[in-house]
Amino acid sequence: MHDSEEIAEIRRAVRALCDEFPGEYWRDADRDRRYPAEFVDALTRSGFLAALIPEEFGGSGLKLDAAAAIMEEIQASGCNGGAAHAQMYIMNTLLRYGSDAQKAEYLPKIASGELRLQAFGVSEPTSGTDTLSLKTRAVRDGDDYVVNGQKIWTSRAEHSDLMLLLARTTPREEVEKKTEGLSIFLVDMREVAGANSTRGGMTIKPIRTMMNHSSCEVFFDDMRIPASSLIGEEGKGFRYILSGMNAERVLIAAECIGDAKWFIEKASAYAKERQVFNRPIGQNQGIQFPIARSYAQMRAAELMVYHAAEVYDQGGNAGEEANMAKLLASEASWAAADMCVQTFGGFGFAEEYDVERKFREARLYTVAPISTNLILSYLSEHILGLPRSY
Ligand SMILES: Cc1cc2nc3c(=O)[nH]c(=O)nc-3n(C[C@H](O)[C@H](O)[C@H](O)COP(=O)(O)OP(=O)(O)OC[C@H]3O[C@@H](n4cnc5c(N)ncnc54)[C@H](O)[C@@H]3O)c2cc1C
Repeated sequence: MHDSEEIAEIRRAVRALCDEFPGEYWRDADRDRRYPAEFVDALTRSGFLAALIPEEFGGSGLKLDAAAAIMEEIQASGCNGGAAHAQMYIMNTLLRYGSDAQKAEYLPKIASGELRLQAFGVSEPTSGTDTLSLKTRAVRDGDDYVVNGQKIWTSRAEHSDLMLLLARTTPREEVEKKTEGLSIFLVDMREVAGANSTRGGMTIKPIRTMMNHSSCEVFFDDMRIPASSLIGEEGKGFRYILSGMNAERVLIAAECIGDAKWFIEKASAYAKERQVFNRPIGQNQGIQFPIARSYAQMRAAELMVYHAAEVYDQGGNAGEEANMAKLLASEASWAAADMCVQTFGGFGFAEEYDVERKFREARLYTVAPISTNLILSYLSEHILGLPRSY
């Protein structure tokens, strides 16, 4: 990739910050399933998490290509941006559709790190990928909304001050189009929740997962939030989050490129150094070729990621490119992860090399935030005009 001087400088600065958080730091956090708060704080203090927040609100006002480069470098350094990536793309909904008062109140505090906006409550246990069937209800009652229902996989809910919440405000049977009747709220969790406690009608329960991702179930039981928490117009929430999802897909895809680079770099270094049968294993083409293939696959996906960022930055509809970027990059990183374990042999399974940790972390992205099948379905139906399957 040919970077502008500005992006090259950003990459160097992110690398320098990440050097302060070596493998040992991530291994410890992973073992204890501890939120890497020091890393997230350092990223926030350096301004990287506020890359996409306009300067008038205290951010850097950068474009998506710069934000993608930040996330890519974090992963390529062996760190885990999953602890903080949501802030970059969730903030977009507030920025695009929030009122002037909401933006003035929250964006500067998010930019400075005074408030964390890390939780995005969309997925539900019964509806799964079929977001329009979600059941969480928000009912207007005077100056409040009363929320009842449940979310699952709400990552970082315990470590966030604010949550962007998608809930149904008009029953599905009463709307003309099924995409209507959902609304987006900016919930101030400091008012309503505490981890593993029920306060103000919100209960958060951590889910122990394959990797350290701080995912949670969140239960709403007559949770009262002020009507001023509503973002934009009632009933238009689905449309609002859809437009933010292209940015999310590009950023996650950039993380996958970073992961793939990390695996390729680790495998190449190990293949040069590890001696078996009195020669480096990398002298065998059976070891070389999978590394070379991974490299080619990653480079092709990388082109699509930065092309998608460019389309997005130019104000176009990046739906096709963002989805393809996410598809290709998540497959490239997973292929690189598998290749890296094979290259390391038994040591690929030992904690101290970080390969097994990164392998578990990289596995997520062909499933979340949108699974490969759903992307293929989008391309089939919306780009290729094939018959609708669901
Ligand atoms: C660690 C982790 C963190 C997450 N963080 C968040 C978060 O912060 N906020 C949030 O809202 N969500 C989050 N998610 C949820 C994530 O977005 C979903 O898990 C993902 O979108 C898949 O949905 P599902 O798990 O309900 O799978 P399901 O919808 O149950 O699907 C299961 C499988 O069936 C396939 N499938 C379903 N329907 C079709 C179809 N019509 N055609 C072909 N295949 C189909 C899917 O592709 C998938 O492979 C997270 C998930 C994980 C695991």
